[in-house]
Amino acid sequence: MRDDDVRSACFAALEVLQAKWGPDVPYAALAEGFNFRGRRIPFLNRAYGIYRAADAQRGPAALSVNSSPKQIRYQDEQTPDGVLYRYQGDDPENHFNRWLRSAHLLDVPIVYFVGTRPNWYRPIYPTYVERDEPGELRVLLAFGKMRGAYDEREPVHIPDEIERRYVVREVKQRIHQAQFRGAVLPAYSDRCAICRLREVRLLDAAHIVGDAEDSGEPVVSNGLSPCSIHHRAFDQDLVGVAPDLRVHLSRRLLDDDDGPMLDVLKRFHGSTIEEPTRRLWRPDPDGLEKRFARFQSAR
Ligand SMILES: [Zn+2]
Repeated sequence: MRDDDVRSACFAALEVLQAKWGPDVPYAALAEGFNFRGRRIPFLNRAYGIYRAADAQRGPAALSVNSSPKQIRYQDEQTPDGVLYRYQGDDPENHFNRWLRSAHLLDVPIVYFVGTRPNWYRPIYPTYVERDEPGELRVLLAFGKMRGAYDEREPVHIPDEIERRYVVREVKQRIHQAQFRGAVLPAYSDRCAICRLREVRLLDAAHIVGDAEDSGEPVVSNGLSPCSIHHRAFDQDLVGVAPDLRVHLSRRLLDDDDGPMLDVLKRFHGSTIEEPTRRLWRPDPDGLEKRFARFQSAR
């Protein structure tokens, strides 16, 4: 039995949450569940990973699976075709794994919730259980896409292999970037390292030295937590951070005289960036030196 309605309601509710919170949603918001025919339905089950909307009328297939940042490193192996998601436990026939199998056999879309920092999740949907591998105690999750106009969007597979792999790569990069941000921002107490702005929605994680793609674990010591303005300025070499952690403004900005915003930016010239809360997370001096050389040659 398919249960497209509950899935559509779930995806629509996630779109609303993401419009409010951005691509990552706090667990506190997810914990409230979504409305379906007058009832609150949970989005996920954090304890067991694999979740099905409770009563049988809503179908035998999983509605979502989830991974915490810790689990994803050890369990969710990424392949060019998707993500290998581990069964719950070692028994392919337990009910969790049967829900996964049903999602595969019925070919229904599910949500893949990936932890990007403690108590924050990136919902990736529609996701399909593309392959079931009971012998390996795992399934292959592949990513689909939403098609159609705003009020009649529907989840579909991506039939073309090249496009499918492209989407997998894109999702992977977005998860990596989100987890990098999820590691870097808390290290700086959710403040801009330069101006101390404390509004998470205006903060980014910037790589000091360009991100080697698929480099695995996000390394905090290769990151800074600038606000959007400082991130853009850092990327454009209008602001630099020297190995002694001092902030430098480009000549061009310093010589310019153009209104209150620029005055504010100039105020941080010569100041020192915020130190991360742990020594281990301090920006790597070699990385800073390399990056600062680029800043100096740009001006
Ligand atoms: Zn800033």
